Amino acid sequence: MSSNSNPIKIGIVGVGKIVRDQHLPALAKDENYRLAAAASRHGKVDGVPNFPTIEAMLDAVPELHAISLCMPPQFRYDAARTAIEAKKHVFLEKPPGATVSEVEDLKALAAENSVSLFASWHSRYAPAVEAARTFLGSTRIRSAAINWKEDVRRWHPNQEWIWQPGGFGVFDPGINALSIATYILPAMFISSAVLDFPENRAAPVAAQVTFRTSSGLPVTMDLDWLQTGPQSWDILADTDKGAMVLSGGGSKLIVDGHVVHDEPEAEYPMLYKRFAEIVRAGISDVDLAPLQHVADAFMLGKRNVVAAFFD
Ligand code: NAP
Repeated sequence: MSSNSNPIKIGIVGVGKIVRDQHLPALAKDENYRLAAAASRHGKVDGVPNFPTIEAMLDAVPELHAISLCMPPQFRYDAARTAIEAKKHVFLEKPPGATVSEVEDLKALAAENSVSLFASWHSRYAPAVEAARTFLGSTRIRSAAINWKEDVRRWHPNQEWIWQPGGFGVFDPGINALSIATYILPAMFISSAVLDFPENRAAPVAAQVTFRTSSGLPVTMDLDWLQTGPQSWDILADTDKGAMVLSGGGSKLIVDGHVVHDEPEAEYPMLYKRFAEIVRAGISDVDLAPLQHVADAFMLGKRNVVAAFFD
């Protein structure tokens, strides 16, 4: 397939907030794609045929090459299996699934069916992430800290799935931090975790996690979903070349007090560019490190019960 003469015909499934905010604008501007259909129980996309289920979409529009799966993670595996068995390339919104093993299964299934599977991590494509990785690769890191604190009522109002098992709670944004940290820091593993569960919810509202690397580098992660006022999506590192601050969810890099990188974000255009690349190259891109850390935090973490949460 060459870029615009033979665009990737793509269908989108699970038309909600992230589809409207990011997927549709990114696809509309990318000549690698032609959006050809959508499937959702309630949501609709203007200008393309809409179907209630992925099965109905695949039956009616068999010429689709690829499918983007944008429903919440608990409901993604069956749709991904259906798409892969129909020989479609698959783009998985983050997190790629509700468990590590189901995504491993999809990875093997994609290989068997010779289609590309993309576990997308949008925060990895934030503008200053690559520069932070290069900087950290050029110095000795003494310690690092991840501070991801936001107001759930502002960013996820009335999203029931996010508080249910498999919705990850505060790890839904926290996994974005982990997708950056696992890209810019040396390989690490969790040594302790404390998770705060509201008494009326099945997912945590806050978490404190401690990691270490094989060489003993300490890394802490502080997740809080009740932060009002200024929001923080920061990764800090103390290094031999001074303090590094990667702020704004990966959009701004400050080293030793100097702004090194500060650009507007283009995460979803970059994600779709990468997906087109892997489809055309006939490969998959499925890094499970961020999801594995979340699984480990739930496995190792001590649980506190805290005050009930109401939207
Ligand atoms: P959302 O609006 O609550 O959900 C997306 C759509 O999925 C819903 O509108 C719904 O459409 C469909 N859906 C919901 N429950 C379903 C179920 N039980 N079975 C099948 N489909 C179901 O959520 P979102 O904010 O777009 O998030 C979706 C995914 O994108 C999540 O994995 C999230 O982590 C990720 N994401 C979100 C953001 C953000 O800022 N919101 C940013 C980056 C990534 P129908 O009712 O029409 O079927």
